[in-house]
Amino acid sequence: MNHILNIKTNKRIEAVEITNKVNELISKSNFFSGICVIYSPHTTTGILINEIYDSSVVEDIQTFLSKLVPHKDDYKHIEGNSDAHIKSSIIGPSKTITIENEKVVLGTWQGIFFMEFDGPRLRNIYVRFIKG
Ligand code: ZN
Repeated sequence: MNHILNIKTNKRIEAVEITNKVNELISKSNFFSGICVIYSPHTTTGILINEIYDSSVVEDIQTFLSKLVPHKDDYKHIEGNSDAHIKSSIIGPSKTITIENEKVVLGTWQGIFFMEFDGPRLRNIYVRFIKG
């Protein structure tokens, strides 16, 4: 069964840390051990795992992506959000993480982020637990 996490973004480009939301879902589901798939069914978002301790790390990632893929360029897509589609393709729509003792297994400095590249919007992402 897919669990749904609702995420409201407030800016065009935004990183929303969702580690605690995922852990809450695991607790609510009484899920002890296995694998967790976090999937964003949108073409202009991504799921990222990286440092939460120093928030400037994710800011640097966003700045780098925006330099690499500018908002305005010689794109063919008429919606005007090609940069968001490309950034989404680079980061990817999902991550798989192991679960142990009712928590996602992450390194000390790691967290899970929902990456918005074409907000603000209301987004739904899927979280699925697989026993193992
Ligand atoms: Zn588009």
